[in-house]
Amino acid sequence: MFQNKKIGQVFLHDKNILRKIVSAANIQPEDIVAEIGCGEGILSKELALIAQKLYVLEIDARFIEKTQILLKDFTNVTFIHGDVLKNKFLQIPDPKFKIVANIPYHISTKLIKLLILEKDRIDETILMVQKEFADKLSAQPGSKNYSSFALYTKFYLDIETLFTVSKNCFYPKPKIDSAVIKIRPKTKPLFEVDEELFFKIIRSAFWGKRKALLNCLLKGPYIQYDKKIKTIPFFQENAQIRGEKLILDDFFRIYQEILKYEIPEV
Ligand code: SAH
Repeated sequence: MFQNKKIGQVFLHDKNILRKIVSAANIQPEDIVAEIGCGEGILSKELALIAQKLYVLEIDARFIEKTQILLKDFTNVTFIHGDVLKNKFLQIPDPKFKIVANIPYHISTKLIKLLILEKDRIDETILMVQKEFADKLSAQPGSKNYSSFALYTKFYLDIETLFTVSKNCFYPKPKIDSAVIKIRPKTKPLFEVDEELFFKIIRSAFWGKRKALLNCLLKGPYIQYDKKIKTIPFFQENAQIRGEKLILDDFFRIYQEILKYEIPEV
C-alpha cells in the first residue's frame, strides 16, 4: 500500500461504514457524482456501480493508476488528476453534481470554502471529516466551539452530522474519530447583505472573545466604527453582549441598524 502522511492518506476499511456512506449519498442512476480522493478505490467502485457518471478527483498519480486498474471495466468513470483545492470542479462539464469524499482532514476548511464558491453546481455533499470539525460546524452560540467559521457556513449551507466513525475503521489508524456530514447549499441566501461587510462584523465579534461586541466593533482589526454605533437600538438594549452568544439573525439586525443609522467607519 502507498501512503503519504503529508497529504493525509488514511483509508477506510470498514465495509459497514462504506455501505452507510453510500446509502447516505442516496445516489440515483441518473446522478453525476464527484469523488474527492479515491485512494485505492474502495469507495469509487461502489459509486461507479450506481451513478450515471463518476468523476474521480485525486492528487496522487499512483492512486489514479491503481483505481483505473480496479475500475477498468467501467465506462462511466473519468479521472481528474490534481489538487481539488485548485478548483478541479471546473473540469467537470456537467451543470450539477453530488460530491462524496473521505478527504484529508487538513483540507476540510478550504474544501468547505470551495463548496461555498461552487454552491450553485453542487446538489449535496457527503463528507467524512474529523469529529471535532463536525462539532465545530454545528456548534451552538455560547459554546466553546462556536466561531465565525460556523456562522459563515450556516449562512450558505445546511449541514447535518449523520453519524460518527471510530478511528478503528481506518488504516493507518488515526488518532481521532471521524464523522460523516451532509452538506446542502441553501437554495437562496438567508438575507440580502453586502457579504464582505456582514462577515467583517461577524469576524470582529470573534476577534475579541470575552470582550463585549461593541468594543470589538470600536477597536477590532477588521472594521472600526465611530462611537455613534453605541446609539443603535441593538446596543441600547445589549450594551455588554458578547458576539459569541449571537446567531446570524442578531448579526443581521446589527448590520441593518449600522446602515440605517449611517454609522461611519473611522
Ligand atoms: N477515499 C479513500 C481514500 C481516502 S485517503 C478511502 O476512503 O479509503 C484521502 C485521499 O485523498 C488520498 O487518496 C489522497 O491522495 C487524496 N488527496 C489528498 N489531498 C488531496 C487534494 N488536495 N486533492 C485531491 N485529492 C487529495
